[in-house]
Amino acid sequence: MDVELVQQLANDEMVCMAARVSTIGNKAQSYTREKNRGLINFLVRDRHGSPFEHGSFTFRICAPIFVVREFMRHRAGMSYNEESGRYKELEPVFYIPAGDRPLVQFGKAGAYDFKPGTFRQALVASEAMRMAYTEAWTQYQAMLDQGIAREVARSVLPVGTFSTFYVTCNPRSLMHFLSLRTKSDHARYKSFPQVEIQMVADQMEEHFKTYMPITHETFVQHGRVAP
Ligand SMILES: Cc1cc2nc3c(=O)[nH]c(=O)nc-3n(C[C@H](O)[C@H](O)[C@H](O)COP(=O)(O)OP(=O)(O)OC[C@H]3O[C@@H](n4cnc5c(N)ncnc54)[C@H](O)[C@@H]3O)c2cc1C
Repeated sequence: MDVELVQQLANDEMVCMAARVSTIGNKAQSYTREKNRGLINFLVRDRHGSPFEHGSFTFRICAPIFVVREFMRHRAGMSYNEESGRYKELEPVFYIPAGDRPLVQFGKAGAYDFKPGTFRQALVASEAMRMAYTEAWTQYQAMLDQGIAREVARSVLPVGTFSTFYVTCNPRSLMHFLSLRTKSDHARYKSFPQVEIQMVADQMEEHFKTYMPITHETFVQHGRVAP
C-alpha cells in the first residue's frame, strides 16, 4: 500500500480559531498552547465536530481495487478521483499478501479475528493468486490486441489489481475514517477492518499526527471517536 500526502492545510490552531469565533467574534486574541489543548479536549470530549472541518489533507493512494472499494464507502467530507480503466490501460500490478499476513479467520461476523496460516496455506494462497493474475492479465491483453475496448476488456481483471486515487478529506472526516478503519484496543467502539485498508489508514494517521498533534492526541485519549 502506498500512501503519499500530496498537500495539507490543517493545524490545531485553525480548529481553535474556528471554535472561538462563537465567543470572541472578530477580535484577534492569542492563546497559549495549553489553552488550545484545553479547548480541543472540550471539543472532542463533547463532540463539537464542526471546528474540525476547517482543514484538508490530500493523499495519493495506490492500493488493490478491493481496498479502494472499501475506502470509497466513506462519503461525508471525502472527495475522490481515481485512475480510469476506460481511458487508460491498467497496469499489471497485483496484490499478493506478505508472508506474515494472517490467513485463517475465526470468530463471528462483525468481530472476526485472524491467525497465521500454515506454510502450506501461505504457499497455496500466493500460488493461486499468481496463477489467476497471470491468466487474467493474459486474457486482458488478448482482448486489447483484438481491438476490444479497455472498458470491456477490464472485466476480467480481479479486485487484487492495484488502482491509484486521490482523496481529499477534512480532519473531522479523517478521524471518522480512522475510527472505522483501524483496529485499536483503546477504541471505545471497536472496529474490525480488513488488514489491507488498515495498512492505508495507519499511514494516513501518521500524517494526521504530524500536522495536528493536539487533535490527534485528544482523539486517541477520547477512545478514537470522531467529534
Ligand atoms: C469493519 C467494517 C465492515 C464493513 N462491512 C460492510 C459490509 O459487509 N457491507 C457493506 O455494504 N458495508 C460494509 N462496511 C461499510 C460501512 O457500512 C460504511 O459504509 C463505511 O464504514 C462508511 O461509514 P459511514 O457511512 O459512517 O461514513 P460516511 O459515508 O463518511 O458518513 C459519515 C457519517 O455521515 C452520516 N451520513 C452519511 N451519509 C448519510 C446518509 N445517507 N444518511 C444519514 N446519515 C449519513 C452518518 O452519521 C455517517 O456515520 C463496513 C465497514 C467497516 C468499518
